[in-house]
Amino acid sequence: MIDFENLQKTNKSFFPEYLSSFRETMESGWYILGNNVSTFEKAFAEKVGVKHCIGVASGLDALTISLVALGLPANSEVLVPSNTYIATILAILHAKLVPVLVEPEKETYNIDPGKIEPAITSRTSAILPVHLYGKSCRMDKIMQIAVKHGLKVVEDCAQSHGATLDGRQTGSFGDFGAFSFYPTKNLGALGDAGAITTNDPELAEKVISLRNYGSKIKYYNDVVGFNSRLDEMQAGFLSIKLRSLERINDHKRSLAALYTQGLDDRYIKPVSEANFFDVYHIYNVRHDDRDNLREYLLGNGIKTEVHYPLSPHRQKAMKGIFEGEYPISDEIHRTTLSLPIAFSTTHDEVKFVIEVMNSYLTSR
Ligand SMILES: *Cc1c(COP(=O)(O)O)cnc(C)c1O
Repeated sequence: MIDFENLQKTNKSFFPEYLSSFRETMESGWYILGNNVSTFEKAFAEKVGVKHCIGVASGLDALTISLVALGLPANSEVLVPSNTYIATILAILHAKLVPVLVEPEKETYNIDPGKIEPAITSRTSAILPVHLYGKSCRMDKIMQIAVKHGLKVVEDCAQSHGATLDGRQTGSFGDFGAFSFYPTKNLGALGDAGAITTNDPELAEKVISLRNYGSKIKYYNDVVGFNSRLDEMQAGFLSIKLRSLERINDHKRSLAALYTQGLDDRYIKPVSEANFFDVYHIYNVRHDDRDNLREYLLGNGIKTEVHYPLSPHRQKAMKGIFEGEYPISDEIHRTTLSLPIAFSTTHDEVKFVIEVMNSYLTSR
């Protein structure tokens, strides 16, 4: 059986270092907002190439707190891709803002800059691009539009640790970058964790307060805050894994190259442009008979996933929130299939997946 992801295998090479970090943290007697968190924050800010990083409890919280810290007018509109993971939209709703869906480019799955300007109204306050599957959005164009219209930008970097555009890291373009360290992400913890990046010292101060009950001095509260702190255990593990992020991304990129070269061109494969460094959190293909193909692969011992089966605007939880049609999003959700590309996936496994994928086309 070829797993889609096997977290035990993915993390195994880190276990010895994790164990000594665990012991150190346990014996320190200090478990919340201590040295491990500040050490990780410093290292991650350096990696992203920004002045500030603030650890929080999850990717969803990173997005929500970023939006709250911007102090956008209540019920103002935030532009977000129509095919994103639901968490991006939940964050906008939790921040008491209005999500407005913008269709993605069919080739990159990322928000289409050409469709952003037509969606801007007098109520628009921000753009929330999502670097989906580990590919940077066209941030050069998006930042130009944002500056022109006076809009704030929060980047959803939950799938894009280490991805760059023109050598610049995702999470360093907008007012904020919001990261998730959910265990399956390219930089994954052993539980929930997240972080916010920014170059703005005032915004950083706001986030530091918001994550800790809206308080800077213990028991004195300035704003209505959250309890959303990265904990010392996870920060210790993350500092260790961060040192291997490039190795993790390189491995995933080498698997992606095998897929792109080996898979029949009748599958719609990810595209890449010279100035984009993609980190393949997900390697997806699109195919009309996605569900049959998925069955066939499973029959041959290959586990796959679908990111995602249902468009956000069709989710029960979103009833009454969106009007209009989002045909590109629907088409992506109907046809997309994610192939194994974990840190634990081997080159031989990918070669077998390619063989079975190509044999599917001749088997029908
Ligand atoms: C994983 C993910 C999130 C949410 O992160 P959590 O840490 O699970 O809260 C948000 N946006 C995208 C695009 C994601 O993939």
